[in-house]
Amino acid sequence: MDALIEGYRRFRSATWPAERARYEALARWGQSPETMVIACSDSRVDPQTVFGAVPGEIFVLRNIGALAPPYEPDAHYHGTSAAIEFGVRVLKVKKLVVLGHGQCGGVRAMALGAPPEARDFVAQWVDIARPALAAAPNGGDERSRLATIEAEVVRLSLANLLTFPWVKEAVEAGRLQLCGFRFDIHTGVLLKVEPDGERAVE
Ligand SMILES: [Zn+2]
Repeated sequence: MDALIEGYRRFRSATWPAERARYEALARWGQSPETMVIACSDSRVDPQTVFGAVPGEIFVLRNIGALAPPYEPDAHYHGTSAAIEFGVRVLKVKKLVVLGHGQCGGVRAMALGAPPEARDFVAQWVDIARPALAAAPNGGDERSRLATIEAEVVRLSLANLLTFPWVKEAVEAGRLQLCGFRFDIHTGVLLKVEPDGERAVE
């Protein structure tokens, strides 16, 4: 816990004085972020850092694998869908971004099996991404196969987002834009995930 407290003290002494007016305005007027990012919980891929965003700028949801599930309004606990609903229907974000990444443990767990000690929830959760396996047949170099699957998982999450009726409606009305990226931790390069491949963002 000491590292957290040390970090807080640095924030309080260095960041807070410079950012105080921003925080006070956000507290007074509330948040109105234009972008929602669905990212992975991986500690190396912080959307605010990758996109150079400041507090109040992006509404962030992080989960294992940066996954968006399909629309399933039932009595189960849907933390991810709840955040999507809040971002799209309440905050009315203009951009909805899925940020996958290289060396994703969630994608790896889906493709190669979840760690045995993480079978209560992780295994079932990452199964959402299973259809992405079709994009990368078995065999070949494992690292490049997983990278192919990671990109396909981003495409799958974007497709799943369109199963939410109010997401689809907002996209069709031109009020909401969906896009996908994959962050390469090793090189620090952000790749835009397109239907037919990936392109490095200049
Ligand atoms: Zn990940």
